[in-house]
Amino acid sequence: MSFASQNFAPEIVRALDECGYEKMTPIQQKAIPAARRGEDILANAQTGTGKTAAFSLPIIQRIADQPKPRKGFSTRALVLAPTRELAEQIARNISDYSQFLDLKVLAVFGGKKMSSQEKQLEAGVDILVATPGRLLEHIELGNVSMANLEFLVFDEADRMLDMGFVGDIRTIMSGIQGHPQTMLFSATFSGMMNKLAGEILQKPKRISV
Ligand code: AMP
Repeated sequence: MSFASQNFAPEIVRALDECGYEKMTPIQQKAIPAARRGEDILANAQTGTGKTAAFSLPIIQRIADQPKPRKGFSTRALVLAPTRELAEQIARNISDYSQFLDLKVLAVFGGKKMSSQEKQLEAGVDILVATPGRLLEHIELGNVSMANLEFLVFDEADRMLDMGFVGDIRTIMSGIQGHPQTMLFSATFSGMMNKLAGEILQKPKRISV
């Protein structure tokens, strides 16, 4: 199946073309139509399967369809990832996919100055990619508002649990009002993983690749 079958905006089609993507990978074939319909997603997928495009293209398309002025300290989509490296890679991919659109993506993670990240957050972003610990620090300082959150993504959720982020994740969740469309990707499913998925997802479409 090609990306053209998904009716993406011409700017997205052009960017995917520049990335050299021709056909959708299996996770993209299964996740993209469901995500475009607004469904929550629970996906069992390893790294290297193309999951970043699977969750980010529907978000980018929504922002292209429904442009809104950026608000200070606010984000429309939040992607949580276990490590700095993964957060940076996700943000890079999203920048590539949205290179022909007016879209602001920012990655925040530990080990970098809070103040430089704070300045960028102050301007408002469309898609924020973050590690849970650093995000919580920014939330506590009032640098991130989730009042306008439309999408929430957990990438490599099992690794976040393995690294002891479950408490941080629950605290972050407690500050989110309503139910943004939520997508969870994990390579493995333990009892704790299933419990967390049950708490954060509503009638998810289950996908396995
Ligand atoms: P990910 O699992 O998202 O980290 O993606 C793994 C690799 O596959 C990355 O280098 C992506 O750029 C690449 N990739 C993702 N989707 C496609 C696609 N549809 N066609 C070709 N390469 C892709």
